[in-house]
Amino acid sequence: MSQPEGGQKQLPGLEVDAAASALPAATTPLRPRVKPVDRSQLTWRMLDVERLIEEDHPARAVWELSGRLKLDGFYAPIEAVEGAAGRTPWDPRLLVSLWIYAYSRGISSAREIARRCTYEPAFQWLCGLGEVNHHTLSDFRVNHDASLRELFVQVLGVLSSEGLVSLERVMHDGTRIKACAGADSFRREERLREHLELARKQVEAMGDPREEEPTRKRSAQERALRERQQRLEQALEEVQKVRQAKRQDKEQARASQSDPQARVMKQSDGGYAPSYNVQLSTESSHRIIVGTGVTQSGSDYGQLIGALAQVEANLGKKPAQVVVDGGFTTRENIMSMAEQGIDFVGSLAEVNQRIAGQKGKRGVGEEFYTDKFIYDARQDVFRCPAGEILRHKGRDFRLGVTFHQYRAPTERCRVCPFQSKCCPGNLHHGRSVIRTERAPAMQQFAEKMQTEAAKAVYRQRGAVAEFPNAWIKDKMGLKQFRLRGLIKVRLEVLWAALTYNIQQWIRLSWRIKLVTANN
Ligand code: SF4
Repeated sequence: MSQPEGGQKQLPGLEVDAAASALPAATTPLRPRVKPVDRSQLTWRMLDVERLIEEDHPARAVWELSGRLKLDGFYAPIEAVEGAAGRTPWDPRLLVSLWIYAYSRGISSAREIARRCTYEPAFQWLCGLGEVNHHTLSDFRVNHDASLRELFVQVLGVLSSEGLVSLERVMHDGTRIKACAGADSFRREERLREHLELARKQVEAMGDPREEEPTRKRSAQERALRERQQRLEQALEEVQKVRQAKRQDKEQARASQSDPQARVMKQSDGGYAPSYNVQLSTESSHRIIVGTGVTQSGSDYGQLIGALAQVEANLGKKPAQVVVDGGFTTRENIMSMAEQGIDFVGSLAEVNQRIAGQKGKRGVGEEFYTDKFIYDARQDVFRCPAGEILRHKGRDFRLGVTFHQYRAPTERCRVCPFQSKCCPGNLHHGRSVIRTERAPAMQQFAEKMQTEAAKAVYRQRGAVAEFPNAWIKDKMGLKQFRLRGLIKVRLEVLWAALTYNIQQWIRLSWRIKLVTANN
């Protein structure tokens, strides 16, 4: 056997080509060897559906809770019965669970849920690998108003029984959520009538749907045209409501042709957008939402009393204490809370507004502000800084408060050297001041809000009341409604609040029990 150069032994059968071995080392690198991808094969794989998701996956918690609740209202419309022919619908327990789990993941589209049921393990687990049509999901979300409300109350009952709901202190707040409509969808009455006329002609041009074989595409087109006509008819009704509410003329009042019931509201960033005002009542011990509401009014005034009635209806009792910001601290609310025996904590801004308004009015100098006028209760008169007497001239009775007006003699003020600083521009009357006489409940409220204890409670308001608002907007992605119209928007808020509460239950109860059971 020949011995190669360098003293290396040659393996038997592998003869070295002397000419090749004499060449310099190869300059082209050898191709790396890797495993090929073979997509031409067909294969069967074992799939354990039960093990698609882990033991502590929130989808399991949602399914478990939905099994504990009475869903009779959701089952009632089902016509299919055991032993009879007909299409078998999906189980309402599954559809409830799918929507709750979807909202918890920030998904509010029926089409997106249907897509995820084909590939995402948690959705596949919930469906048992079945595929739910998006029409079924979409209809289910909006067709069970009363049953959904009942479900919300039942979940509150579960949370309450586990010690997660206390009505010792409830924080109430409002937040604006954008409607499913653009700012450019608003039209005046005249333009809405033109669009409606056109929509009616298009619907008439479709002919009688019974005369033609319906196709899916044609049915969808017909439905879209009819819905557009309905929205425009509703927009004409809404534009009249806007005119009356805002006392606007025909040229000013507008309504959206996309979502006629939406109203333009100021947003937290200072801008304006078509929106709804969402009202949430949150108990403070575990930040559970105990009441929801939606209004077309951009103002929070007038929303509190109805909201607390709903909390009482949901939980069978009134809150012991209610905390709100200045938007709700009206005389009506202070008096109503006192009548109901509810401890009310809020900002005094609105109550003090009229009194503060007198201070710097019309360029009055600081030394002539109302608080520089001395009140003599025995004679019921005021004495001005120049020593002149202001006598009682009249009363203005309002709920919870009476405003007493006192006025100095006109002829004295006209010749007074301080007139330009005390009542500048007031040429026809003497200087007047207002004394506010509060009703006992108002006075007690004002005194209470000066105490450190009440101020400390009020300071907690933002953290508690704004927590669910932020969660629903940021974690669930509900910064804009997907549905249109007040009724459907209310349902969307209810689904979101229900999901939020169930997420709190998973976090505060279900997970802890699971860990304890496994240890
Ligand atoms: S203007 Fe009239 S009220 Fe004012 S200081 Fe003079 S007298 Fe008094």
